[in-house]
Amino acid sequence: MSAPTTIGFVGLGQMGEPMAAFIARGETPLICYDRVPGRAPEGAIEAGELAEVIARADTIFLSLPDGKIVNAVAAEIAAMDDVAGKVIIDMSTIGPAAAKEAAATLTAAGMTFIDAPVSGGRQGALKASITIIWAGPQAEMARHRHIIDLFCANAFHVGDQPGQGQAVKLLNNFLSATAMAASSEAVLFGLAHGVDMKTILDVVKVSTGNNTAIEDKFPRRILTGSYDAGFFAELLNKDVRLYNQFVQEAGTSNLIGARVAEVWQQVEEALPPQSDFTRVFEVLEKRTLP
Ligand code: NAD
Repeated sequence: MSAPTTIGFVGLGQMGEPMAAFIARGETPLICYDRVPGRAPEGAIEAGELAEVIARADTIFLSLPDGKIVNAVAAEIAAMDDVAGKVIIDMSTIGPAAAKEAAATLTAAGMTFIDAPVSGGRQGALKASITIIWAGPQAEMARHRHIIDLFCANAFHVGDQPGQGQAVKLLNNFLSATAMAASSEAVLFGLAHGVDMKTILDVVKVSTGNNTAIEDKFPRRILTGSYDAGFFAELLNKDVRLYNQFVQEAGTSNLIGARVAEVWQQVEEALPPQSDFTRVFEVLEKRTLP
């Protein structure tokens, strides 16, 4: 199997733009498209429309907001001419059902679909330190490894079936969302006892309650007041909602998941659109009784 000769990238948002920027620094030509113009990184060709990317690239990465959009784009691609043999690597978080739907649409058009969500956040994308969670043929992963290594620090092959990457991604984001919300409540409890935030974080960071919110989001995004982790609250809420939906389908225990989903639904409703998810702290702070 030969290496792809031109790479395509669709969706140049908080995650897509930095990931595409690393690919653009590699040796394989890159052509990008976002519905908002002007987001293509230096060294890449900016396409005026999706069809231009699909015509020129043989492997196309997607980094789009949700399953509805990914499937609309997949249907548009499948209806184009001469697409057989091309590979779509979807790095969006869309849930197992949407991944299976996109795979069915694209496979019917003779294409290969790889379910490959990512983790590590915008900061990870800016440092090429993200993790890719790959479900699809292992041979395709090997064929694209030199491209993946340009923007990922860790690549895991979790299975051959579309939806398996999404399952692992959703369980990870459920844990991350739980840690963020629970840590916010725990810090508010400490503050209510007159202990300052930095002291609380310093203690927990080297104790058994440590997690990514305590270690990273609190000291860098909340203590500083910058609230700029680079992930919208509505996107995390989408992930928690999808996790809950598919846990119910799987029939596994969901005592905590159901509660965490209610919290994030309330957080999304309390914040303006495109608010950073670390603002959960401010939302919960307002709920604290005087
Ligand atoms: P974002 O909203 O910043 O970016 C999405 C981009 O897609 C935007 O630039 C938007 O203009 C573009 N877009 C939307 N519809 C389009 C279409 N039909 N055609 C072309 N472009 C279109 O979102 P993001 O934070 O970059 O996240 C992208 C995906 O990655 C989501 O599925 C998200 O859940 C997932 N994700 C995000 C993070 C994070 O920390 N931000 C981490 C891991 C995974």
